[in-house]
Amino acid sequence: MPHLILIADDNADNILLIRRILKRSGLELEFIDAQSGREAVRLAAERLPNLVLLDMKMPDLDGYGAAAELKANRLTRNIPVIAVTAQAMMGDRERALEAGCDEYLMKPIDPLLLIGTIRKYLSSPEGLG
Ligand SMILES: [Mg+2]
Repeated sequence: MPHLILIADDNADNILLIRRILKRSGLELEFIDAQSGREAVRLAAERLPNLVLLDMKMPDLDGYGAAAELKANRLTRNIPVIAVTAQAMMGDRERALEAGCDEYLMKPIDPLLLIGTIRKYLSSPEGLG
């Protein structure tokens, strides 16, 4: 069974880049996309992906708000959420983790780090559920 990955980013180029990197990972993956935090929260509850990649800066509901909603919902609480963000300011990492993100990756995306992080969460007991 392929793992379902939800990629949430308001920039379509970023979604394509992430897909391209992950397609070369050797992992069996399927993708769904969201262009806003609100859409990400809705799709996650509907499709129950194995992992969410979450841009922090998005319209209507940002990544912090989306992470908090995902972790507050019984249905989506155990889905690993990885923040992918260009906001490399002091305290951003802590803020993302506090909002409920399990991990924090910076843009520009390091392909090997992204693949390694996803591999780690998909092979953990929660990730296999
Ligand atoms: Mg953005």
